[in-house]
Parts: sequence; structure tokens; C-alpha cells
Amino acid sequence: MFILRCGTLFVAAGLFLLGLSLRSPHLTERTGELTVFHGEDGPAGQPFTGRQYVFTTQEADGFTSYDLHFPEGYRTRLPSGTQVSLRGTVVERDKGRSLLRVEDLVVEAGAPNPSAQARRGVEEILVLRVDFANITSSLTEADIQGAVFNNAGLGSLNGYYRLVSQGALTFEGPVEGVFTLTATADTSNCWTDTMAWAKEADALARAAGIEVDAYRWVMYIMPEISTTICPRGTSTEGGPVLRTWIFNENATTTLPHTLWHEVGHNLGLRHARNLDCGFEAIGPGVFPTQQCNWVGVENEYGGYDGMNAFSTTGLVGMNAPHKAELGFLDEADQITVTEGGTYLLVPLYDPGPGLKMINISFGDDSNRTYHISRRLARGIDVNLPPEMTLGPVVNYTAENYSEVGPGGMVYWDTWTWLVNAGGPTPGGMQPAIAEGATFEDPYRRISVTFDGFSQNKMMQVTIGFGGQ
Ligand SMILES: [Zn+2]
Repeated sequence: MFILRCGTLFVAAGLFLLGLSLRSPHLTERTGELTVFHGEDGPAGQPFTGRQYVFTTQEADGFTSYDLHFPEGYRTRLPSGTQVSLRGTVVERDKGRSLLRVEDLVVEAGAPNPSAQARRGVEEILVLRVDFANITSSLTEADIQGAVFNNAGLGSLNGYYRLVSQGALTFEGPVEGVFTLTATADTSNCWTDTMAWAKEADALARAAGIEVDAYRWVMYIMPEISTTICPRGTSTEGGPVLRTWIFNENATTTLPHTLWHEVGHNLGLRHARNLDCGFEAIGPGVFPTQQCNWVGVENEYGGYDGMNAFSTTGLVGMNAPHKAELGFLDEADQITVTEGGTYLLVPLYDPGPGLKMINISFGDDSNRTYHISRRLARGIDVNLPPEMTLGPVVNYTAENYSEVGPGGMVYWDTWTWLVNAGGPTPGGMQPAIAEGATFEDPYRRISVTFDGFSQNKMMQVTIGFGGQ
């Protein structure tokens, strides 16, 4: 049942450094290029639960991966391609899992734009079929062509993004291989050696005459290594080359989802979480998780949306703030309000113009925003359950939000939560606000009332500020 049902997203970072060897433990200073990875957690017990920063050094004899540990956290979101100089202490642990404790990191040159990599038009992806020396994939070329490009609707990466972007973004490209690595894979290196595998696969493809370096986007379709310990996919964000690794052989079921989930990370999206504050719709804390309880294992993937929707609800579209983050929601179709008023919402994936997202910025903190939108179980959202569609839903975003992860590491990032706005009671999410009901945030004195439907079936929503 779990696919890439990973508990939380981790962010891994990579540094490519030339010609240096490591001894440990010792203080080291290096300069190199940062690569930001998104990985997926496996089930409990796998060795890299939680978000982590990892970096990979290019040594004379190949690549070695390290956990990159920022004792005080690292607040700036640096994308792949950033040149940095770094000082820290290398602590050897198990093979392939050494740790580099960063004492100082300086951005050497202007960092690439860390915002989401919004794209429009036709994106070319080079798809490489890659086997390990010890494991081969059961997927056929037709399976891969279908899941990446050709299957209709939610059945392929291309179909999904065509729907999410309403035709603005599509994918095409060649499927090449199979290329067989000299590298072997098992549960000890499935979280650490992905970049080394990519480099070897690139070299094999080049040797076969494929112009790998002409592509800004390279996808590696690889065998499942372990369904219980290893990731189903991982990906990089930003920089000159976007890379996606897929370790999923379920061609007709979960592979398409793994594909568009990982490409969502390529594009800069994080997971969409949910937020259930028990008897309250929202808690008093500045950061929601300081006050609210998560909903079991659904926390990281509980947003019922395209970055998350797994087996519980079927595959559906992205939530409103993610759709906007990727540039797939026109400015004319959203509004930011700072005072009370009444508005008419059309469905988020309605093909025509209309108000699709209301942004409510908190007066006391501009980094935190409510997003009100309306979902309809039609088209890309056909699999949404009634609790998402019977009224407007509320997504919450917090920028520069910090969390403490494994080993006491501090992470800073931007996250979205689906608020339990329609059912502030324990025992399950009721995200949509029922007709005639009001979602209230008494701590920030904001209210959202679903007044009812207009004559032309638009949802009438009244926003209140200051307790009015
Ligand atoms: Zn993910």
C-alpha cells in the first residue's frame, strides 16, 4: 500500500568537490557547487527518516555521500547550482553515511533563484533506463513511454501536468537504454549513492552517442531496490540540470504518481501537509505544529492534493497555493484581501476565468497566509472525497518555518497545510466548510463563512477580520 508513502520529505544537499581526499575527523574547508535533493522517507526503521541535508563529494575514486549537518539550522533556501565555500568537521560513520558538521557556509557567487521553477511550454526530458549490476527492472520501454508521456490524464507525468497547468506545461523526450551500471544496489546504499549512479548512467549514455549534456532534465528509471527500506523516488531542485530518480516498477498503478510527485519536487514543491487541531479549527501558535496535533501518518501527505494524494483518495490535482507557486494560476484569478468582504468562488480547475483563490495575509505576520479555494470532483479532481468538495477549503502557508529534525538538526522551509476548517473535532479531517458554517481563527481574528451558492452556482464566501 505504501508507495512512496514516505513520512516526511527530506531535503538533501550535494556538493561536488574536486580532487580532495578525506580523513576523519578533522576540520576541512572546501569550495564547490551545491545540489539540493528531495528524498522520500521509507517506512520506519530505514536509516534516513526525516528531512536531511546530504552532500556528495567527487573524489578521485568516485563519489562519497555525507549528511550535511547545520547545528543551528540553515535558514536560506539555496537551490542547486549555488557555489559555496564550506568549513566543517567530517565525522566518519558507517560506510557511505559520514557526516559533515558545518561550521560555516558562505555563498560564493550569486545564488540562482530559489523560488519554484515555474515553467511553461514543452519541457524536454531525457529518460534513461538504468539497471544495476545486481538488479534489473521489469519495466518495458512501452511501460515507461506510457507512464512518462503517453497515458492519458492521471496515468502519466505528461497527462498530469497538462491537466494541472491546463495545457500550459507538457513533457516530451526520448527513452534510451537499458544501461547497466557496474554499481550494485542494496538497502545500505539506496539513500546515499543516487548521484554516483546518475554519473555512471550519464557516462554510459554518452558512450552510446546520446547527447546527455544537451538536456536540462534527466530522469533515471531504475529497479526497485527494496519496497520496505529504500525510496521510490528522489529528485533535485534548481540548477543547470534537474535530475529525477525513480525506483518504482508498478507501471499501471503507482509509477505515474511517483513520476509526477518527484517532478513536483524538481519544480520546487514541498509536500502538502494537513493540520488537525482537535477541538479547534486552528491553534493559537505562530507555527501551527506548536499547537496542533498531526493526524497520524497522514501528516506529511495529508493535504489531499497532487503532491500527496496516495491510496486513500486516489490521484487528484495540486492545491491552490501549489498551483499558484508553479505559475498555473493567473493573477487575475486570485485576490489578496486585508479587510472583510464577500466573494464568489469558481472551482480551482475551472477552465475559464474567475476567482479561484482568496489569499488572506495575517496582519501581524506577512509570512503566513490563508488560501481559500474551492474544489470540484471533476476532471483532475474527480477522485476528491466529499469532505473536500462540499464547501470552500482552507490551506495555510508559512514561509521560513523551522522544525527540528533527526539528530537535533534544524530545518527552515516553506510549507503548506490543509486546515481542518470544516470539522474541528478529533478523529478525522473535514476540510471543507459546510454551507452556512464558519471557519474561525480566533487567535488572528479571521473568519471564513460559506454563505451558499449564487444563482450561477458560484460559492459565496464572506471573509471577516477583527472579529466582525
Ligand atoms: Zn515527496
